[in-house]
Amino acid sequence: MQYQAEHDLLTGLLSRGGFMDMAGRQLAVRDYPLCMMFLDLDGFKVINDAYGHDAGDQVLIEVAQRLRDCIAEGFTLARLGGDEFVILYSMAPAADLPETVASRLIEAVKRPFPRLAHRHIGLSIGIHLSSKDDINEMLVCSDAALYEAKRRGRNQYCFFTEKINAHLQMKRDVERDLASALKNGELEVWFQPIVRRDGRTLDGFEALLRWHHKNHGWIAPPDLIEIAALAGLSEDLLRFILDEVAEMIRYLHASSRRDLRVAMNISPRELERILIDDLVAVKLRELDLPPEMLEIEITEETAIDLQAATQTLGALSALGVSIAIDDFGVGYSSLGFLRQMRVSRVKIDRSFVTDLVNRSENQALVQAVLQLSESFRFQVVAEGVESMDDLRMLQEMNCPAMQGYYFSPPMPVQKAREWMQDMAAAV
Ligand code: C2E
Ligand code: MG
Ligand code: MG
Repeated sequence: MQYQAEHDLLTGLLSRGGFMDMAGRQLAVRDYPLCMMFLDLDGFKVINDAYGHDAGDQVLIEVAQRLRDCIAEGFTLARLGGDEFVILYSMAPAADLPETVASRLIEAVKRPFPRLAHRHIGLSIGIHLSSKDDINEMLVCSDAALYEAKRRGRNQYCFFTEKINAHLQMKRDVERDLASALKNGELEVWFQPIVRRDGRTLDGFEALLRWHHKNHGWIAPPDLIEIAALAGLSEDLLRFILDEVAEMIRYLHASSRRDLRVAMNISPRELERILIDDLVAVKLRELDLPPEMLEIEITEETAIDLQAATQTLGALSALGVSIAIDDFGVGYSSLGFLRQMRVSRVKIDRSFVTDLVNRSENQALVQAVLQLSESFRFQVVAEGVESMDDLRMLQEMNCPAMQGYYFSPPMPVQKAREWMQDMAAAV
């Protein structure tokens, strides 16, 4: 029973509980700083989905073995759960440098897996060195470094730095303050115009979340979304954004601009966890608004539960709401996804659009997406138009819609309404 409590039965490694006990003992006798590595496989979920859980288990067993082969005596290795592992060791003078260990681990996991038709998976690692006696804190810090490693792409390791520390502090403060901010109306939704090919005719708006925190200034919306999830506030936040978006639609409708659309961003995680189709249907009915005036923008992620997403997006599109794929070109968007989702718009990521004139590879990509749009019957929006040159080039390519600072940055709702009226007056 003792063994079962302390070990992960699948891989034979220590379990989370076993690890915490072992780490406690290591702390009690340590003479040197400790190094903690937080490990997470890249692309494991895809393996599980595509080959089934048995295959997933086999991979975990094999990975555990490869990790074991990479570490020296005195290292503690454990499986925290899922595809997460942790390593702890004392940085004695003769011990390997963390960089060396991390590279070795990454190389070991990189080798093809014979059981998976020689497919590859990757490994990301967050590293934290500490002389303090707090294992939980080390877990938090190495996890934050892991997050940064993941952000940089597959097969990377990353140390916990002062910058990550500041970011972590920001997240803690924001998490603490978010609920009251939401209640007190401190959050806002701003609107950025999307224009037609001529650069003058309004096509609609994209709603973008804004919050100015008293100590940390403007909080990046993706951070806000992530923190809301940690704080269990995703649904409250989503309801707030939907209210603001619906209010904008109501205004446009009342101004006889039924031809315009308002787009709202939904992250894949929100899509998985919240019954968005219900919320949207209820809201539209309540205010008696045409579903065609609403658009949902989503980015594709490999981690996404495609089944759940397909269902929710299907329900939304059956309502008449249009679906846009955001940040196209940088993520994992596949042609299959485009077809399966009955996508009505594809937004080309701004990294391909800004300064288009000087980047011929980007021109080729934009051109290719525009061509695809004809056979797949979706509309294209180019994001990040920052100059007259960008606009001209996109016009030559016949790009039907555009968005970017050249036309206008996102604006508070009142300003966006005025902008729209000025636009209409100018035409
Ligand atoms: P996104 O959906 O791709 O939104 C476009 C982002 O590009 C916005 O950043 C916008 O301010 C910025 N942008 C627009 N035109 C230009 C330009 O010409 N040049 C440059 N350099 N940037 C431009 P923002 O508002 O910081 O939002 C970042 C991301 O956060 C969004 O990317 C979206 O993925 C997410 N986000 C924003 N609001 C929400 C929300 O309400 N819910 C969810 N789930 N995600 C949101
Ligand atoms: Mg967007
Ligand atoms: Mg985008």
